[in-house]
Amino acid sequence: MTSNEIRRKFLEFFESKQHQIVPSAPIVLKDDPTLMFSNSGMTQFKDYFLGYREPKSPRIADTQKCLRVSGKHNDLDDVGRDTYHHTMFEMLGNWSFGDYFKEEAIAFAWELLTEVYGLKPENLFVTIFEGDASENLERDNDAYNFWKKHISEDRILNGNKKDNFWEMGESGPCGPCSEIHIDLRSDAEKAQIPGKDLVNQDHPQVVEIWNLVFMEFNRKADGSLEKLPKQNVDTGMGFERLCMALQQKSSNYDTDVFTPLIAKVEEISGRKYEGKMDDERDIAIRVVVDHIRAVSFAIADGQLPSNSGAGYVIRRILRRAISYAYRFLGMKEAFLHQLVSVLKNQMGEFFPEIFKQENLVTEVIREEENAFLRTIEHGLSRLDAIVNDTISRNEKTLAGAEVFELYDTYGFPADLSRIIAEEKNLSVDEAGFEEEMQKQKDRSKKSSAQKIYDWVVLEEKPESFVGYDKTATPTYITRYRKIE
Ligand code: ATP
Ligand code: MG
Ligand code: MG
Ligand code: MG
Repeated sequence: MTSNEIRRKFLEFFESKQHQIVPSAPIVLKDDPTLMFSNSGMTQFKDYFLGYREPKSPRIADTQKCLRVSGKHNDLDDVGRDTYHHTMFEMLGNWSFGDYFKEEAIAFAWELLTEVYGLKPENLFVTIFEGDASENLERDNDAYNFWKKHISEDRILNGNKKDNFWEMGESGPCGPCSEIHIDLRSDAEKAQIPGKDLVNQDHPQVVEIWNLVFMEFNRKADGSLEKLPKQNVDTGMGFERLCMALQQKSSNYDTDVFTPLIAKVEEISGRKYEGKMDDERDIAIRVVVDHIRAVSFAIADGQLPSNSGAGYVIRRILRRAISYAYRFLGMKEAFLHQLVSVLKNQMGEFFPEIFKQENLVTEVIREEENAFLRTIEHGLSRLDAIVNDTISRNEKTLAGAEVFELYDTYGFPADLSRIIAEEKNLSVDEAGFEEEMQKQKDRSKKSSAQKIYDWVVLEEKPESFVGYDKTATPTYITRYRKIE
């Protein structure tokens, strides 16, 4: 099954269970002061759960573009180093707003995974909330009993509050959740260590694929819990991980979500991707193909790279990709923008925004690349001078202020300075660097009265959603508001 078929099957399945299919919300949020990016499927439905708005339908399903690079969910440091955390990923989800609850949610998930997708029950584990005495919360016996109808009891594991109790924030809707994990190891490996011992242990072949959240409670401002009058279901399944399971790969990067992008990077760079975990070139390729998706979709949704807020986060992701490619793939010329057309061919049918904004996205990335590559060249020669100076003085530490100046004035990444220093057996005076950073923050606080525009007016006209399977009309709702 191709990734496009896998996505379609998910939506068709929930449509057949009377869910209304809606498009993904933009990856960048404009109206939510608490969050810069959509980081889960439920983000766009927050108001329904809080009771501020009425849902259009009590049952909804979709795939949501998510970005986990800031705030509570920040997976950036894992990206490229592991094989199943991305900056941008799709979260497939189904929701019940006061409609069905645990029994049906569990039955739907099981039917989809084992009957529609054909995953083997003997490779699956589920977790349920074990309870928490300090909060007077009981073990989720309902979920346990519903799971028991489908899966053998030794595959139902207890999970703690951290993994199995979901909260929107300090107050608001919350409740126990039940996760589904898949064990993709070989039989020989399974014989050595039982899969249940590896659930939630960061094992690359025993991974969480789906999280079913049962919103049962409301946490009040005083911290106490009250039962919600209407109970909701909020689920999220990692699309790329599901593709790994269904395509029987051992890494998300080996699925057809990423292989066309990797092939293009191989073609341009002349470096072969070998899928090794510790090889810097392989890490760099994973970083590049991951980050290009995040940056392209953010720009297609109207968020230009910039020097502040969400735009700055996007600029940093792009620069991270450029730095990795520069250092480990020897890419001294702009090339990332060439990946946008690959992305368009692959995902444009389902996400027409990337199709329509291809030119804008390509041009913005090209410009950013060229500007940053100039910065790198310039910074490298300055850093060389600083390094030589330090060595000639028989010192072992680069002055924090100088590394900061490179970063602040030239935009040269401090991480790059650290890596280069290390290669010469030098270190960076981190305390000095931090001190300069603090001074800079104080200065910018003073000048923050200045207005900066972060949004770009997109080329298209707003359109309404017509259904995910109708190819004639795009399914995307345009946003073209400028915010200050
Ligand atoms: P993990 O424990 O693997 O970090 P999570 O518990 O943080 O995942 P949830 O918040 O429960 O994830 O999100 C629902 C689903 O989204 C997960 O079960 C997983 O399949 C997927 N997912 C979460 N984070 C990522 C990511 N960074 N990249 C790809 N998929 C992800
Ligand atoms: Mg996580
Ligand atoms: Mg988890
Ligand atoms: Mg989870």
